[in-house]
Amino acid sequence: ARAAVAVLGSANMDLVAYVPTAPRRGETVTGTAFHTVPGGKGANQAVAAARAGGAVTMIGAVGADAFGTRLRTVLTDAGVDTDGLRTTGGASGTAHIVVDDAGGNSIVVVPGANAAVDALTGGDEARIAAAGTLLLQLETPLPGVLAGARTARAHGVRVVLTPAPARQLPDELLAATDLLVPNEHEAAALSGTSDPERAAVALLSAVPEVVVTLGAAGCLYAARGADPVRVPAPRVRAADTTAAGDTFVGALAVARGEGRPMAAALAWASAAAALSVRREGASASMPYRREIDAYLDTYAADTGTPAPG
Ligand code: ATP
Repeated sequence: ARAAVAVLGSANMDLVAYVPTAPRRGETVTGTAFHTVPGGKGANQAVAAARAGGAVTMIGAVGADAFGTRLRTVLTDAGVDTDGLRTTGGASGTAHIVVDDAGGNSIVVVPGANAAVDALTGGDEARIAAAGTLLLQLETPLPGVLAGARTARAHGVRVVLTPAPARQLPDELLAATDLLVPNEHEAAALSGTSDPERAAVALLSAVPEVVVTLGAAGCLYAARGADPVRVPAPRVRAADTTAAGDTFVGALAVARGEGRPMAAALAWASAAAALSVRREGASASMPYRREIDAYLDTYAADTGTPAPG
């Protein structure tokens, strides 16, 4: 059966301008290119899970503007149910990104409509209750994230939390989390130790399972009562690592929701993330289920280890 996944989180339009050198205060510079890229960790995880084969519903908000219309279309095109995606009166969430020739960037995030996702509204409880897994991140207000986690817990729905952007987490949120998926930096910030293995083990005092993502180095899985396991990532030429983490989480949730063992699910999610890294684009680069399946064979050759499952 298809894995039923609910996502509560952000939808943003990234407005990306490329410049030779970033402007100083009061200065105007001429850019060389401009892209609008649909994103936000919530929307990204929803698209990733849907393309990976999940039956996905998104709880969030967009503004009554052209960005909101486009964000909604990106989700529906991926097959995501957007009945829980509200349209608020103001602007959609945006991220204004200036990238200079040295690859450095500066970013202004304006939450816009995402700020309205501070509580559950009509139908959200039923959306969560109908799912096997709820995916949460921290780009929408904490009270809404907590309400989602609480509701999932009450209905026996598995909670997967991406603790990004990094911040202190209330005990209640950790207590309601089944699987925590920080990247290296978030794991260090949450645990106070920069060694990912130690960080993962430390976080097991708060949650039963942790996956620390390590970029090109793969990921590290830790569960209570077992030794941490490293899963290598396929070696690929990275074209664009944007949303690699969200692709990984979306695919992992689908694989686990279908009842695959953790080792097989991690290998499948690693294949999905590597495929997204090989291609330009954020949600546009996320692979479809059949591509992930096909890539698992190559994956074994790429890493020199047999692909589990
Ligand atoms: P992002 O913020 O770009 O979404 P992240 O910081 O949340 O990423 P990462 O740890 O960088 O997360 O990457 C998540 C997963 O994506 C990794 O565990 C790995 O499986 C895969 N991945 C990322 N970068 C690469 C790469 N260069 N080659 C292969 N796989 C990669």
